[in-house]
Amino acid sequence: MAVKQFKAESKRLLELMINSIYTHKEIFLRELISNSSDAIDKIYYKALTDPALTFDKEAYYIKVEFDKEKRVIKVSDTGIGMTKQELEDNLGIIAKSGSLAFKKENETKDSEMKNGSEIIGQFGVGFYSAFMVSEVVTVISRALGSDEGYKWESKGTEGYTIESCTKDSVGTEVILKIKENTADENYDEFLEEYRLKEIIKKYSDFIRYPIKMKITTTKLKEGSEKEYEEYIEEQVVNSMVPIWKKNKNELSKEDYDNFYSDRRYGFDKPLRHVHISAEGTVSYKAVLFIPEKTPFDFYTREYEKGLELYANGVLIMNKCADLLPDYFSFVKGMVDSEDLSLNISREMLQHDRQLKLIAKNIKTKIKNELEDLLEKEREQYEKFYQSFGRQLKYGIYSDFGVNRETLQDLLMFYSSLEKKPVTLKEYISRMPEEQKYIYYAAGESIERIEKMPQTEGVLDKGYEILFLTDDVDEFAIKTLREYQEKEFKSVAGGDLGIEESETEDDAAEEKQENQELFAEIKSLLADKVKDVRASKRLKTHPVCLATEGELSIEMEKILSSLPGEQKPKADKILEINPKHEVFKSLQEAYEKDREKLKLYINLLYNQALLMEGLPLEDPVEFANNICKVMG
Ligand code: ADP
Repeated sequence: MAVKQFKAESKRLLELMINSIYTHKEIFLRELISNSSDAIDKIYYKALTDPALTFDKEAYYIKVEFDKEKRVIKVSDTGIGMTKQELEDNLGIIAKSGSLAFKKENETKDSEMKNGSEIIGQFGVGFYSAFMVSEVVTVISRALGSDEGYKWESKGTEGYTIESCTKDSVGTEVILKIKENTADENYDEFLEEYRLKEIIKKYSDFIRYPIKMKITTTKLKEGSEKEYEEYIEEQVVNSMVPIWKKNKNELSKEDYDNFYSDRRYGFDKPLRHVHISAEGTVSYKAVLFIPEKTPFDFYTREYEKGLELYANGVLIMNKCADLLPDYFSFVKGMVDSEDLSLNISREMLQHDRQLKLIAKNIKTKIKNELEDLLEKEREQYEKFYQSFGRQLKYGIYSDFGVNRETLQDLLMFYSSLEKKPVTLKEYISRMPEEQKYIYYAAGESIERIEKMPQTEGVLDKGYEILFLTDDVDEFAIKTLREYQEKEFKSVAGGDLGIEESETEDDAAEEKQENQELFAEIKSLLADKVKDVRASKRLKTHPVCLATEGELSIEMEKILSSLPGEQKPKADKILEINPKHEVFKSLQEAYEKDREKLKLYINLLYNQALLMEGLPLEDPVEFANNICKVMG
């Protein structure tokens, strides 16, 4: 019998398959099963339009059998089958979307082997993947409307043969002669019942047609109450109707929770689920979850965002990143669309219009769900925010703030007034009319911010302050700039908009003798601060540091902890409280003892640094100076 050659590109792909270093060889079964499922689909659609045919659901199924001794796996279906010509055309060449993309990619990159395995891993290349695990692949098929069967057989790259054979019923059998184990590869595992069943469950659980397998089970021996015996029974291994294809009303929270843990989305219980069934310009189904707890690797580079992507019930990608914006990377779940092809490549997915629409749709749904959670289940939302609030704030800050509209109402910050996290909307709603700004204070912890001297003036006015304790907070706030036309203002920044006290303090600075004193202090600290001023914000504390310009002290700390040469510094202002006892001592020292003034200023400046959590330039000198004062 003449051996026919594969088309050139098919041969190359085949070589890759056979020598594949790809570790997920198990996907061959997924590919064969989905081909079978497609073949049954075809006969089903034919039956819909051809009155001579009837589609009896019972008669359509996929069967997986194996023989450990003979090292054979057989996947058979009662689908539409293939004619001789179709066997030739379909299995002799690869002209599908996935493989075209493969070719393209190979033209640009030289590491063929690596690319090949990536392709297999991400999209599957269908039938050919059988060669990853088989020495010989035999396909016996009888097409609908034909009395004859044909046998296609190939050992791989050398080519294939086709001959006629008998087959009793319409459909296809794919018979794999499984490779012998090698030093590196274990093929025996595919000849184990539990393993095959596991692979079917993992990838093909939601195939619409029953996947039958003979399964070993135990039952009580007849006549005995304790003794069990093993027996073999044909079972349907897949669950067929996936949760996302069921009606929401038929499902309980528990069903969704089970699905969440079955699919290993997380070990926690999700806070919320969203079940979407969209029809129209874009048709898809999705089940999405908002987890409660942060996955251990969430805030690391290792964390991979994405949703499971199914094309018509067949899993084609474990983590499709394009479906989720980074700021919602915590969302788990899946999307199933009938409009996607099984062999679509990642490259093509990125440009897929359908997928873009789905992603956009999903983004809105998640946002609405979070807003609803915030509104109706505050406690749950706070839990969520504890785990993932940081990610939302990153979302505001990144991409030059384009997403701030989407995210700003989901933000929460600890409030000086409420002593708990509040939203910006809540803050605005209780702002006194004359209050100009939304005030915030940045620091390491709530406890530390509560003691910050800079907060005194604003608190004294009865204004609420938002406490920013996350390193990303101030960057996010600066990106927002304003909320409902109210500007954000750091309590440590200039112009706090607390007018009345200003005149008095300005007066203090304006007095002739004080002007000289301030000038003297400024010259003492010339290399350390940008200016020295009478404070408008201090009430009980003698000094504090304020800043001017974009960079705050907290931001300086964060930036200086990052690797890199550039360490930008905030423009610091030393503020002195002219109403404080200490100010009198300074005036006195200025008159009588300049050395003492120098000593005092050193102490006060370092004290201000300490309160900011900034390192002292010379801790020993500071300690010595304290002793001097005490002595
Ligand atoms: P794809 O599934 O992406 O089309 P494959 O290489 O897996 O690519 O299969 C090539 C073609 O062979 C299929 O499109 C189909 O026409 C045919 N085919 C494969 N398996 C079967 C089967 N079990 N029954 C009928 N046709 C099949």
